[in-house]
Amino acid sequence: MPDGPRSIMTALWGAGHAAYLVGGCVRDLLSGRAPADWDVGTDVRPDQLLGLFPAARYENRYGTVGVEADGSVHEVTTFRADGVYRDHRRPDAVAFTDRLEADLARRDFTINAMALGRDPRRDDGAGIELVDLHGGSDDLAAGLIRAVGDPAIRFTEDALRLLRAARFAAQLGFTVEPDTKAAMAACAALAARLSGERVHAEMGRLLAAPRPSTGLRLLEETGVLAAIAPDLAFQRGIPQAKIPGDDLWAHTCRTVDAVPAGLPRVRWAALLHDIGKPASFADGHFVGHEAVGAELAEAWLEALHAPRADIERIARLIRQHMFAYAPSWSDAAVRRFIRRVGPDAIDDLIALRAGDNVGSGQSAGHDGLDELARRCRDQLAARVALERGDLAVDGDDLARIGIPPGPLMGRVLDGLLDRVIADPMLNDRARLLELAREIVRQGGPDTRTEPGPAAGVEPGP
Ligand code: ATP
Ligand code: MG
Repeated sequence: MPDGPRSIMTALWGAGHAAYLVGGCVRDLLSGRAPADWDVGTDVRPDQLLGLFPAARYENRYGTVGVEADGSVHEVTTFRADGVYRDHRRPDAVAFTDRLEADLARRDFTINAMALGRDPRRDDGAGIELVDLHGGSDDLAAGLIRAVGDPAIRFTEDALRLLRAARFAAQLGFTVEPDTKAAMAACAALAARLSGERVHAEMGRLLAAPRPSTGLRLLEETGVLAAIAPDLAFQRGIPQAKIPGDDLWAHTCRTVDAVPAGLPRVRWAALLHDIGKPASFADGHFVGHEAVGAELAEAWLEALHAPRADIERIARLIRQHMFAYAPSWSDAAVRRFIRRVGPDAIDDLIALRAGDNVGSGQSAGHDGLDELARRCRDQLAARVALERGDLAVDGDDLARIGIPPGPLMGRVLDGLLDRVIADPMLNDRARLLELAREIVRQGGPDTRTEPGPAAGVEPGP
């Protein structure tokens, strides 16, 4: 145990109070994982905690106090027994208690309901004890997620636990104990009432797990997925010719697993990349599914209150994921591809497609993807112009030669960019100003030779 939480607990013991590590850190310590943070539980009431630790601050309205020790802030929470749950979301009230047992009983799963510490009020200085009243260490050893108490009651109290079960299953590679899983299925519909923010936070943790599919399949099997993301649940049973025996949902799960855990937005995009397929399934074809999918994904992520920049990026990756590279692409075609996707999103799109390849039973670099990745890297390294801002002229320059700001100027800049992408040598101030005059003389940019950024399929060289 690091010095910070130890010194907080030592101070509490010295004042004659119980102090235990509680929740996730005990689970992680017992299973040899590095705890993400250290939560201390005590019988001391929040207002008294502020007296014992003068620099302490309230962390939330449930009476959790943040205490700084050894350079970081640790959460100290008074033992509590949750009050009544009326809306399947949060307890209406929390009741503080001085009983550790009550605090452990309100926790969701047995592996999360253990405590490690001591209570000077009842021990005789015997030292640190593990308090495990619900069989948490056995379940930890057996790799089981089991609700504390009656699982159906626990999921009805707080439907977020449905998602948490799947999240822990994915993070730890555990199985959900059969009664707990049956209760998940029975209570699945309650997940539809969860706030978007809470669903987003838990899904984000699930998607960051080493193998998200463990949790995703569980959500689907129990009907929780249908409650939170019906369009994804529709993927079950849709045929998918790529891997024998796989349906579209199996393909989605494989694709998510194949994307590196360190790329969270790409994991989200992998989850959602084919969300448009059920809606565009006709005659065994999924025409335009990437555009339909981008919109469905955007609507869902908005409902989850995901950050704007994430929504934009994820929707863009989905919209662009169907490109068809051919080795015959010219360098200019590679540059048009980069421009359409956005230089900042190229690595993510390649990672998504590599995952999609693996999810289809192919090698990551299948169909020239490795070559395309290398050619994109070369173009980016050459620092050629790929966006309007890279041009050797800007709007002010154009205004000075009499092109008024507005739609015409935008079209001229795009026309210049088209030319420069076709031939990077043209990116020279004098030549671009000359070209701009020419474009205006001809009555606007010539769009016949450059098809421009069409959605979906790269026009090729
Ligand atoms: P992580 O390592 O991901 O933080 P954790 O177990 O610490 O995992 P938290 O969400 O930080 O998870 O919650 C801390 C503890 O609080 C849990 O271990 C669990 O005992 C309890 N807890 C959290 N959320 C709930 C809930 N919705 N219902 C019941 N108990 C909960
Ligand atoms: Mg935690």
